[in-house]
Amino acid sequence: MCGIIGYIGYKNSLPILLDGLRRLEYRGYDSAGIALIENDKIEILKKAGKVSDLQDKLKNYSSQSTIGIGHTRWATHGAPNDINAHPHNNSDNSIALIHNGIIENYQTIKKKLLKDGCKFQSETDTEVLVHFISSFYKNGNDLFTATRLALSEVEGAYAILVISAKEKNKIIAARKGSPLVLGIGENEMFVASDASALISYTNKVVYLDDEEIVQLTSNNFVTKTITDEEIEKQIEKIDLEIGQIEKNNFDHFMLKEIYEQPESVKNSIRGRVLLEEGDAKLGGLQDFHDQLKKTKRIIITSCGTSWHASLVGEYIIEQMAGIPVEVEYASEFRYRSPVINSDDLIWSVSQSGETADTLASIREAKNKGAKTFGIVNVVGSSIARETSAGVYIHAGPEIGVASTKAFTSQVAVFGLIGLLLGRQRGMQIDQGRIIANEIISLPEKIKKALNCVDQVKKIVDEFKNTSNFLFLGRGTNFPTALEGALKLKEISYIHAEGYPAAEMKHGPIALIDDKMPVVFIVPKDNLYDKVMSNIQEVRARGGRIIAIANDDDDEIDNFAEFVIKVPRTLNYFGPILNIIPLQLLAYYMAIARGCNVDQPRNLAKSVTVE
Ligand code: GLU
Repeated sequence: MCGIIGYIGYKNSLPILLDGLRRLEYRGYDSAGIALIENDKIEILKKAGKVSDLQDKLKNYSSQSTIGIGHTRWATHGAPNDINAHPHNNSDNSIALIHNGIIENYQTIKKKLLKDGCKFQSETDTEVLVHFISSFYKNGNDLFTATRLALSEVEGAYAILVISAKEKNKIIAARKGSPLVLGIGENEMFVASDASALISYTNKVVYLDDEEIVQLTSNNFVTKTITDEEIEKQIEKIDLEIGQIEKNNFDHFMLKEIYEQPESVKNSIRGRVLLEEGDAKLGGLQDFHDQLKKTKRIIITSCGTSWHASLVGEYIIEQMAGIPVEVEYASEFRYRSPVINSDDLIWSVSQSGETADTLASIREAKNKGAKTFGIVNVVGSSIARETSAGVYIHAGPEIGVASTKAFTSQVAVFGLIGLLLGRQRGMQIDQGRIIANEIISLPEKIKKALNCVDQVKKIVDEFKNTSNFLFLGRGTNFPTALEGALKLKEISYIHAEGYPAAEMKHGPIALIDDKMPVVFIVPKDNLYDKVMSNIQEVRARGGRIIAIANDDDDEIDNFAEFVIKVPRTLNYFGPILNIIPLQLLAYYMAIARGCNVDQPRNLAKSVTVE
């Protein structure tokens, strides 16, 4: 959350910054702002609202500045208004700063600064930092040193960019806990929260690590640690194409990403399934097979949609490999003194690879001596770099704030991991082959599952004015129910709950009346009859049944008011197919209710604050 972009070079920086902000807007859209050095002065232009609101404000603004910084905000401290919008400046407007993160000791620093007569305009923690840097700047330090000294006293998380009217040929960038990547051009440099903002200009990047600070000029960059040690950074090439981060012909990124799933799951499994051997081959785990064989327990940490995929992972790994698995909310794991043994493996799942809570759980586990592995989408992200090994899901950039293709790819990757671990621990080759074949068939089955738009729209027509939804499923489809409910909440603002179908009678059944739509995920598996009984219980109380069932199930039509059918698969992979109609339901429901699908209220992607 919070998108950061900076440019220094020979081109007019304003359009580059606005273009970058547009690409980063999925990270926050409470306000947008830029700071440019025009002649010898800092010009700050900012506005509450979307990047398009800022663009409107700047319609008649012309600039020749070749250095500037830009920010889209996801507010943590202070309302999303014009004043709290970034950039923030110091009292004589010689320094401007943008920030992603939270300065946790801002109150203590603010008290000190107030004593020294400093005046504040905003309610943000960020403004405290710019005044704090200014206090070191006044003492004769250059901008780099002043920023470094200030940061050495800061607690919390930050990715910041700082510019000064007195040193107009440089941008200072630093990070701790929030991502920053440099883009290296020819006589121009870029810096951003993620590579999507740079990719149209350069594919040469440098990922900053925590507690690193860099001075960027148009043709050079010098990096140190906050504690003043010099460091050499490596320039890497990224493999990302502009088409991957465009909406193409879709109205929203979310819809594009829903339809990409046959392809994204294919990319997740490509080259990783050994059909003949009935096994999986995962390059990132290749050197860790001994470690995996020794593992006595796996603890998976994650948040949000990744947490739902992790719950499916728990079923998969326990059933395929017989290894005990626990799934933890990353944010809880860190603060409850978890008992971790040396032969436990902590496996963290995050689409962005930057989720602050998940990163914190990895650090906690490492402190306790555990091995940490990752499952992430974004190559080169913090989690990918901080874990000893892992598996990329290779789903391609996910920009829709409501995660879709990351979920299906995460579950597919858990399938591969389960197969690998299972075969290591006595799963028979025939069983391995059945699973491997099923994994290979998933992209085609997803394509078929996507053919349900007409039925989905009928359901939307019927229920678009409802305020509550219940989602019920069993086994691997309990997490599917949770994920279906989450999608609906996130983008259509309908209150929705997911429950294990059998748990319903222990409480939620009290909610059932003739207005309550209840979505049952009821594949033809060993739990089918049990779920059918739960359907009867809801029918008996007048609830309105929507069923996600298999295409060879005719019986269900007699018991549900609306039925969507998807192909049959093994239990392990049911969530990959059953979630498709639920993603579409959330999408079309949001459209029918006039909600902004790609920029849902209060949310932002890549949650880099705790
Ligand atoms: N804490 C800063 C603010 O509220 C930055 C927020 C963020 O990075 O999400 O303005």
